[in-house]
Amino acid sequence: MDSTEFRKRGMEMVEYICNYLETLNERRVTPSVEPGYLRHLLPTEAPQEPEDWDQIMADVEDKIMPGVTHWQHPRFHAYFPAGNSFPSILGDMLGDGIGCIGFSWAASPACTELETIVLDWLGKAIGLPNHFLALKEGSTGGGVIQTSASECVLVTMLAARAQALKRLKAQHPFVEEGHLLSKLMAYCSKEAHSCVEKAAMICFVKLRILEPDENASLRGQTIHEAMEEDELQGLVPFFVSTTLGTTGSCAFDNLPEIGKELQRFPGVWLHVDAAYAGNSFICPELKPLLKGIEYADSFNTNPNKWLLTNFDCSTLWVRDRIRLTSALVVDPLYLKHGYSDAAIDYRHWGVPLSRRFRSLKLWFVLRSYGISGLQHYIRHHIKLAKRFEELVLKDKRFEICNQVKLGLVCFRLKGSDKLNEKLLSIINESGKLHMVPASVNDRYIIRFCAVAQNATAEDIDYAWDTIVDFANELLEKEQHDELSEIINRKKQDTLAQKRSFFVRMVSDPKIYNPAINKAGTPKLSMELPSPVVSRGSAPIIRTQSSVDHNSWISWPLAFLFYGNNEDKGSNVSLRFRHLDTNVRPSSSRRNSGAGSSPSPENELDYVNVQQQQQEQKSPRRSPMVVRKASGSRDTTN
Ligand code: PLP
Repeated sequence: MDSTEFRKRGMEMVEYICNYLETLNERRVTPSVEPGYLRHLLPTEAPQEPEDWDQIMADVEDKIMPGVTHWQHPRFHAYFPAGNSFPSILGDMLGDGIGCIGFSWAASPACTELETIVLDWLGKAIGLPNHFLALKEGSTGGGVIQTSASECVLVTMLAARAQALKRLKAQHPFVEEGHLLSKLMAYCSKEAHSCVEKAAMICFVKLRILEPDENASLRGQTIHEAMEEDELQGLVPFFVSTTLGTTGSCAFDNLPEIGKELQRFPGVWLHVDAAYAGNSFICPELKPLLKGIEYADSFNTNPNKWLLTNFDCSTLWVRDRIRLTSALVVDPLYLKHGYSDAAIDYRHWGVPLSRRFRSLKLWFVLRSYGISGLQHYIRHHIKLAKRFEELVLKDKRFEICNQVKLGLVCFRLKGSDKLNEKLLSIINESGKLHMVPASVNDRYIIRFCAVAQNATAEDIDYAWDTIVDFANELLEKEQHDELSEIINRKKQDTLAQKRSFFVRMVSDPKIYNPAINKAGTPKLSMELPSPVVSRGSAPIIRTQSSVDHNSWISWPLAFLFYGNNEDKGSNVSLRFRHLDTNVRPSSSRRNSGAGSSPSPENELDYVNVQQQQQEQKSPRRSPMVVRKASGSRDTTN
């Protein structure tokens, strides 16, 4: 393709994108395809010879689009918004056209300098303290664009880990780094995004996952008690990840309380993950939600979620950039340049070396909307969410399950989790709306998020009408099913009564022979709660905290330790959140000495988490472990 054709095709592409976005509401929100659908439509090998552009674009419409979930659709209310706007698309296009790789200042000075300036702009607009801004006199901090919030959490945890290990090494110069590492403990709430757990896995550190209060907010006292308890057991708290605007219900951890408590634990890194909500702090009336930020060591928000900027653009600010970069710096000769000491080299601020010119799109967005335009956009989404909340509240069959502060409303039908699962499932299957569930306070809830840039009040009303239609249908069916069940049961009872006692004796010997009854009882093995495990100088892990709050520890790769024969008696439960399952390696496997990922094939016992939580709430009942045949997975729901 030469530049003449690029001009032509470029205009066609802009036309295609505009058309796509303008006619989105004519499409299903979610595709109606099965896994592997595309494999049947495309050849198994790349073409040997060049193909015609028109043919490629025809395939986009015929083969790709049927498998696309339309995140910009006005009826898409799942997850959080995927930022998108014309200025941002054009900024990305320019960045792609320039095609530089800005890993150091010298590799493309404008790429680095614009990033620093734009991050200072946004940081100021959000209301971050001066020490987070790179260009403020005397500041040691600064901002950087990362690919995702997950990466922000990971790099800050890596920095905190490096800092903690350095401190411990200075105190215990003759103790191996590996041993010091085994003492480190990170903390977050049960409502924190799973990326915190993933970061802990990558950093090879333990993570204590704490129970928030009834508003899904992590409290200072909970953190304090957990840390004190861990310190008594020889562990070293080093990192706390708090969330402003949780993924499940947009709840806010109590940052002022947590920040104050952490004053008693100097050296612990306090991170604030505000992936979605952080963008809204550009509105003065929402700045109180940022209270406590003065205690934080780092803060991240994703303009690619709620600031009209396309993925990827996750912004991270740190109080002390040296503490971040010293954990990540590697300096081979071929990357050095004459201004290494005078300029920022963003390659030391993250995992990848190569970096796109991502600040361009954010710069385009900030300039073309202005802070006032972006404030208007945020306020518009909050207004839509409030409208939806009002509609839900008017229908007594439903309830609201979160404090609606921003654009997310959590709601459910009053009734069982199963009923709500059914409701969401039929709505999503219809392709008319798309929402996703979450678990808040151990209840299944449906999340409704204002997402589309130009969503209107009519879109919200349409969504509510659709939900009500499906709910009516479902409740009617449930009522009908319940009625049929009662009638059926009655019929069966009558039939049973009609059977003579003699017939029952013959056909059901269990009635008169208790020995048969006893033999027929299903076998369930009973186990006591997991005890404290203490092995010489190794870390002591409790699954059921002795302090009042519930907590559990994500201990990445802990199962590797089961190869050790010393561990024969130990019985540590590990929680794997992605499976929503507790895993307890069976004794046969513990003794086998093999180290591999936990999986049903490895003869692990799965304990239903909810069941365990129930048991923790009523401690007199022994937790019940349902043993399964090897290879079959039983979540005992
Ligand atoms: N943190 C929070 C609070 C989130 O809501 C999300 C995603 O929704 C993430 C982290 C992960 O974001 P990313 O996809 O940018 O890693």
